[in-house]
Amino acid sequence: MRIGIVALQGDVDLHEKAIKRFKKDIEVVRVKDAKDLEGTKLLIFPGGESPTMSKLIKRFNLKDALLKKITEDKVPTLATCAGIVLLSKLEKKDGRVEPFEILDVTLVRNGFGRQKESFEDEINVKFDDKEGVVTGVFIRAPRIKEVGERATPVAFLKDEIVGVIQDNIIALTFHPELADDTDIIYEKLFSLSD
Ligand code: GLN
Repeated sequence: MRIGIVALQGDVDLHEKAIKRFKKDIEVVRVKDAKDLEGTKLLIFPGGESPTMSKLIKRFNLKDALLKKITEDKVPTLATCAGIVLLSKLEKKDGRVEPFEILDVTLVRNGFGRQKESFEDEINVKFDDKEGVVTGVFIRAPRIKEVGERATPVAFLKDEIVGVIQDNIIALTFHPELADDTDIIYEKLFSLSD
């Protein structure tokens, strides 16, 4: 199985490591160009800096190819931190980020504060078929302000929504690749391709 990690900037290596830990027989392609997406059956948008990623997506003309993969081919897609920023709507427009706005979620960038407010906490994950507790690592994380009816909340920090599923997309404000107890998330992601 060929898996694409959007590799313009951000924590690509750790995602590759995490996904290989979960599933062995996969080939990871670092997506920098539309043709890198050929044959990919699953897509990951890593964390990083959404303004930089947004700029590079524009420079490398990647937006249409990524949108086709997600919304037409409907490959299972995991978006984390800056990744969820790129797919959602921003509560306050930011000239440096042009989100795809395909996820029915409105959020605020850096809504949990700056770098020194980064933290780890227990997250309750509730998929329709499985529940569990994972470690959520939040690094200058975006904060979800509104979830529309097309998206379903699946991850909770106490009462607060920190992750959703919408069709083939799992989108989280934290970093599952930075904890080793997050298999339930990868399991769900791969099951979306069955
Ligand atoms: N604050 C970053 C942004 O909005 C996200 C940080 C991260 O991905 N760890 O792009």
